[in-house]
Amino acid sequence: MEADKTLRRDVALANRIIERCGLSNVFGHASARIPGTDTFLFPRRRSPGFAEENHLLVIDTDGNVRTGVGTPNSELWIHARIYASRPDIGGIVHAHPMACICLSQIGEPFRIVHNQGGAFAAGVAEYEPIGLIRTRELGDQLVRCLGSAVGVIMRGHGITTATADIRSATVAACFLEEGARLQLQMLAAAGGDQGQIRAYTREEADRVSDQLSPAIVARAWEYYAAVAEVRPLGG
Ligand SMILES: [Zn+2]
Repeated sequence: MEADKTLRRDVALANRIIERCGLSNVFGHASARIPGTDTFLFPRRRSPGFAEENHLLVIDTDGNVRTGVGTPNSELWIHARIYASRPDIGGIVHAHPMACICLSQIGEPFRIVHNQGGAFAAGVAEYEPIGLIRTRELGDQLVRCLGSAVGVIMRGHGITTATADIRSATVAACFLEEGARLQLQMLAAAGGDQGQIRAYTREEADRVSDQLSPAIVARAWEYYAAVAEVRPLGG
């Protein structure tokens, strides 16, 4: 019972974090698998900044609302189909962060330009079709694109991160957007010449690939959670 309460609190907090930390405003959502089941906790159809632990829905991998009152976010299929095909996944974040969207629209792949980017040493998937993931089929298409990657950048739309638990999926999303912001700033400073950016080599990226270790996730989650508590909506 206590574990269920903690998970609900984490899901609500993860949603507020992605809004308070600038990864989403009106849209976006974070979810967590209820351990050992094909169901997950998911917020209602409002800005993630409004998520509350007592108003979460329980949804299954076929997209059915099992318990809870209210309408789910229409992109529930992102979560439902990843949980259906990846039993190793326990947490998912979908957000619309601006720097990642910018990269996708200037045809720049995400490059590892700082240590926290090492979370994506194995690569970031790129999903080309525009528009929202509002059907089971589109959810399955996104799953195929994601493969075994930690995250996917969706062109003109946003990002999705999928990891073992909700806290690391949230931290991964924050690190992905942070890296994209830095990459854009470096591109601007270099006058648009991406050849001047000293992106990490594969070997260098591997050396900092432990960014989602339990110790780093615990420290980052503590910070982001505190920020979400003190920063106002829209702040
Ligand atoms: Zn979306």
